[in-house]
Amino acid sequence: MARDCIFCKIVEREIPAEIVYETEDVLAFTDANPQAPVHILVIPKAHIPDFNSIEQEQLYLLSSVGAAIQELANKFSLADGYRVVNNCGENGGQTVAHIHFHLLGGRKLGWPPG
Ligand code: AMP
Ligand code: ZN
Repeated sequence: MARDCIFCKIVEREIPAEIVYETEDVLAFTDANPQAPVHILVIPKAHIPDFNSIEQEQLYLLSSVGAAIQELANKFSLADGYRVVNNCGENGGQTVAHIHFHLLGGRKLGWPPG
C-alpha cells in the first residue's frame, strides 16, 4: 500500500467507508460525494496510481473490476442502465491517485460529460 493514499487507507480499514463489495483483489465503497442515487467506487486493492500505470501482469484486475461492476449493478438494481467512468490523469479529472472506477446509476445520466 501507499502510506499517503486515502483509498489504500480504506482498503486497510484505517479510514471509514461504506463498503459494498469485497474480494481478495477488489474493494467497492460508496462515493463520499455522490453524483447519482447510486455512486460507487470500484478499486483494485493494489495501489496502482492510474489507468495508464497498469502493468501487464496486473491486467487481470480489470476482469475482477468487471465482475464487481456486474454484481453491483445487480445488487443495486441498475437493470435500466448505468455508467462506468475512469478519470485518468489531470486532463481526465482524476483527483485521487489510486485507480478507481465510478459506477453511477439510478437516474438518467446526461451525455457528453463536461
Ligand atoms: P476522481 O475525481 O475520479 O479522482 O474521483 C475521486 C472520487 O473519490 C470523488 O468522486 C470523491 O467524491 C471520492 N472520494 C474522495 N475521498 C473519499 C472517501 N474518503 N470516501 C469515499 N469517496 C471518496
Ligand atoms: Zn492507494
